[in-house]
Amino acid sequence: MTDGPLEWLALARGTLDRVALNRRDDGWIAGAWADPRTRVLIVQDGCALVTYEPAPALVLVPPAQAPDGDRWLLGVDEGGAAYFGVAAALPAVEGAEPAGLRQVGALLADRDSGLLTHVVALEHWHSANRFCPRCGTETKVASAGHVRVCPADGSQHFPRVDPAVIMLVTDAADRILLARGPRWPADRRSILAGFVEPGESLEQAVAREVDEEVGLPVRDVRYVGSQPWPLPQSLMLGFTATTDGDAPLRPDPEEILDAAWYTRDELRAAIDAGDLVAPGPLSIAAQLIMRWYGGELPNMPHF
Ligand SMILES: [Zn+2]
Repeated sequence: MTDGPLEWLALARGTLDRVALNRRDDGWIAGAWADPRTRVLIVQDGCALVTYEPAPALVLVPPAQAPDGDRWLLGVDEGGAAYFGVAAALPAVEGAEPAGLRQVGALLADRDSGLLTHVVALEHWHSANRFCPRCGTETKVASAGHVRVCPADGSQHFPRVDPAVIMLVTDAADRILLARGPRWPADRRSILAGFVEPGESLEQAVAREVDEEVGLPVRDVRYVGSQPWPLPQSLMLGFTATTDGDAPLRPDPEEILDAAWYTRDELRAAIDAGDLVAPGPLSIAAQLIMRWYGGELPNMPHF
């Protein structure tokens, strides 16, 4: 296995400066909206318009063509152009199709992948958090889309992100543990994952989830990378962990339909035979498995 961090994560490639300090500067925001270099990304139900020739790219419109709606400041590029998101019905654009992160998150270039990830996360948060959790009053958008404020009690509410750990567990023979979750297709396998609980560290969450799901103790829990997963509001935190000995796997039938150890040769053979479908390249799971495998898995889509 290679050491070091994960090198490429589909949804962690954004290139813009988020200029968070400018979000409360109404004069700066108005100036950016008036600048003809500014571009607006329209989002509807987790999708934006994408064109595929000559390469997959988001459809971005100048402010003059943008629909009405709250303007969420997404950032500024190296040339000084600002980017905003607006939630609205997607317009008809010749040659463009609506697409979400699952379809194009790994295909888009770095800037556009980051823009779509950011805007999809904000759209979900705004749509799911319209009312004050303290008093139930409808909140108002502030800070260029990154805060909601209650007009009744003044409380501020920030976008929520749910941390989830995902871990590549190896045994003493450097085999990896792959499991099938409930409701997954029969041939689908991935590594273990779960949400962090209140009052728990990330390392504790890794150990607890592995114990709950397959009944194994782990050691050497090491962080190797993260990517946002706004489907709808997670942050995936990738780890490696090791287990000693050859204690039997005890899958929790509520969470795991079956689990097994794989050598590299066994994984390759299972994929080649059509018996196993590994996670797709959008996921941090695939990148963790490839880091261990030492390269791309068989049958993985190429870009
Ligand atoms: Zn309130």
